Amino acid sequence: MTATFINGTKIADDIKKEVADEVETLKGRGIQPGLAVVLVGDDAASSTYVNMKAKTCEQLGILSRKLTIPSSVTTEQLLAEVNKLNQDPAIDGILVQLPLPKHVTKHAILEGVDPKKDVDGFHSSNLGSLVLGHETLVACTPLGIMELLRRSSVKMEGANAVVLGRSDDVGKPQALLLMHANATVTICHSKTRNLADVVRQADIIVAAIGRTAMVARDWVKPGAVVIDVGTNKISDRAEVERLYGDDPARWKDFEKRGYIWAGDVDERGVKEVASMLTPVPGGVGPMTIAILMKNTLKAARMRRAL
Ligand code: NAP
Repeated sequence: MTATFINGTKIADDIKKEVADEVETLKGRGIQPGLAVVLVGDDAASSTYVNMKAKTCEQLGILSRKLTIPSSVTTEQLLAEVNKLNQDPAIDGILVQLPLPKHVTKHAILEGVDPKKDVDGFHSSNLGSLVLGHETLVACTPLGIMELLRRSSVKMEGANAVVLGRSDDVGKPQALLLMHANATVTICHSKTRNLADVVRQADIIVAAIGRTAMVARDWVKPGAVVIDVGTNKISDRAEVERLYGDDPARWKDFEKRGYIWAGDVDERGVKEVASMLTPVPGGVGPMTIAILMKNTLKAARMRRAL
């Protein structure tokens, strides 16, 4: 069997178009959804992500506001900035770009965002609502994965799903979403025994561990659907060779940038046994930003009870 690649870029584009159409309709009623992104410090990668989000907002007709705050900010000062956004009627969604400097209490900041504007779905009140199965704002990456599965017609009801990783932003919400979709869910982590045997039972695998190519071909049941969340930066030639052999597209990227992105799944081996597989890059990644836009639209509607 050779897996079909799930084209996350195409599905994300479809979602962005749907959001743009809905934003246009809301504008006709005098409403423009607004997203504020808070960037603390001058980390280059964080800055790139924030700029990408602002650009996507512009493309979709969403108001975007970027707050750049020096890394010397205290937790209290940052909370005060978040509070101003909580009170701002033009802002429907607030995203605090992570990671934050070590001296800032991340938990306090995430809990300081008004849950109604929490487009990242990280507030404990939104996570609690997700546990209960109530309509709420849900973390973008796991919600994006549900869209990938639905739009690829993957049957979730009754399926055995294994989620690798139990982080607050991916693994935990992912497991809950799959459970609500009536899958039978197993959550694995660094202390799981006989990991490969557990994964081999899965009809659906979501790998979010941050360990390059750890999910090997012989971990995957023939015909399983494999979602690769991992985003691992590879800047070592020997590692590129080990992972992708002489794949010309990978080498072209590597020569151009000096690094490439690889997932948590051994793509070369697993594509021979899986029925569907998300590529890295171009699978889960593009969905995260598309769902952020969708969540901003949702927050704008929820706040106005539309
Ligand atoms: P994280 O917070 O570091 O959590 C990693 C999880 O994997 C933990 O639960 C950890 O277990 C588990 N784990 C680590 N090593 C393991 C091993 N050898 N065997 C089994 N489980 C292991 O990471 P995250 O934020 O969830 O992100 C995971 C990956 O997804 C990263 O590569 C990240 O860059 C990527 N990501 C991509 C996107 C996207 O949009 N494409 C979005 C978010 C994250 P313990 O709990 O026991 O420590």
